[in-house]
Amino acid sequence: MIKAVIGGRTYCEKSSARVTIWNEYVAEKENAEVAAVYPKGIHLAIADGLAPYGFQIQTATLEQPEHGLTSYVLDHTDVLIWWGHLAHEQVSDEVVERIYERVLDGMGLIVLHSAHFSKLFKKLMGTTCNLKWREAEERERIWVVDPAHPIASGIGEYIELEHEEMYGEFFDIPAPDELIFVGWFQGGEVFRSGCAFYRRQGKIFYFQPGHETHPTYYNKDILRVIANAVCWAASPHGAAPVFGNAAPLEQLHRSSHISGI
Ligand code: ZN
Repeated sequence: MIKAVIGGRTYCEKSSARVTIWNEYVAEKENAEVAAVYPKGIHLAIADGLAPYGFQIQTATLEQPEHGLTSYVLDHTDVLIWWGHLAHEQVSDEVVERIYERVLDGMGLIVLHSAHFSKLFKKLMGTTCNLKWREAEERERIWVVDPAHPIASGIGEYIELEHEEMYGEFFDIPAPDELIFVGWFQGGEVFRSGCAFYRRQGKIFYFQPGHETHPTYYNKDILRVIANAVCWAASPHGAAPVFGNAAPLEQLHRSSHISGI
């Protein structure tokens, strides 16, 4: 394994992880305000930001056949990063089912910002994933509440973003298996901004920042959290379970020739 050393510190044990960054890539083409922030699309901004970590990165978008997420692509993906907002309903159920099965089999998944409402995340959570929101150009302070967690490696007490969309509690998700970040917003709300979940062998990380009109995905700490999450999610959670009819490991009955002795 190769270690990625950024700024003299080691953040990642798996820099050769194969990462696929999926973006619906709609607002960047329709909204000049978004295009001004992300002229090449959010997916390529994140790809550029993660480049120093040494991952093998590819991108995919909604408009491609099978949304760019064919079985071949998923077979060559250790971690899938997902950004979506306007077009959740345009993602085909067949592709969602395919990704869902891969996650259960151990493919890592990083769900960003408004992808809390994606079909995929809602299916994995089993809840509405609804929340409170407000676009008011307000400050966010994302507090580290689990400093020992590998996803928080290299981050100080908090990350401060000058402008971010407010996401507030209650966030209708199951209790996270690990809570790593809690966001505070200038208007007064708080939010579980960084949540880790295990689903069979799959590791899932939800990370709240990343509204499309703000330059959040150029922030070095935000990129570091995503890179840390790639490293954390790239290996399956435990060994593959064995299901179905099973032969006994021990003899259950005395054999007939000794019975009755
Ligand atoms: Zn947003």
